[in-house]
Amino acid sequence: MGKIIIAIDGYSSCGKSTLAKQLAKALGYIYVDTGAMYRAVAYYANQHGFFDKNALSVLKLLEALPKINITFSFNPQLNKSETCLNGENIEQYIRTIEISNQVSKIAQIKEVREKMVDLQRAMGEQKGLVMDGRDIGSVVFPKAELKLFMTASPEIRAKRRYDELIAKGDKVSFEEVLTNITLRDNDDTTRSENPLIKADDAVVIDNSNLTQDEQYQLALKLAKDCIAQK
Ligand code: C5P
Repeated sequence: MGKIIIAIDGYSSCGKSTLAKQLAKALGYIYVDTGAMYRAVAYYANQHGFFDKNALSVLKLLEALPKINITFSFNPQLNKSETCLNGENIEQYIRTIEISNQVSKIAQIKEVREKMVDLQRAMGEQKGLVMDGRDIGSVVFPKAELKLFMTASPEIRAKRRYDELIAKGDKVSFEEVLTNITLRDNDDTTRSENPLIKADDAVVIDNSNLTQDEQYQLALKLAKDCIAQK
């Protein structure tokens, strides 16, 4: 049976990666979290002092860009891919509220996006891929066989992300998380480079009132129908 590319786009914290991982596992496909790639670049900039508070020195970042190498390594214990920056596993450092507050500044930069999009396209050459992000169906793989666009209310998304961060032991308030999500929605939808938009042929999944399993069954059916037509 032919393999397809599944592109999952949508707002921050609306469960894209959970769904993408479930689909990849069920279909035996590779899963790529493109948000982690932008977070890895933000982490590099953070560690090299390119941010003064949350203001970014774009010049310093552009100079350093050729030295930033992002890869994924599979962790068999956790059964998932983890993000590596210049060979170092940085998975545990990239989902903090500090990096979440800095990452959309990074994601606005044209040269950063070009580098990430090239890497992402290379990963899709063999198909058999589920990729989630903001511009996957619109820019990275405009010919993806299945495009999903996920959304949910900001409060519901903030509550889910807040619960995750608290469970990890992060000290953060619900208001901080909600503010971060609202600001990122605004940055992601209004930037000039590859803004978050729904591709014309994407299927919208609003999961405000769907359980994870309902959402998964819906998406799996769409994927299987699509694969059957190949
Ligand atoms: O998906 P996640 O929330 O981890 O993504 C982090 C940030 O990376 C987003 O807020 C967005 O600014 C950026 N991003 C992007 N394009 C993608 C994936 C993520 O601009 N394809």
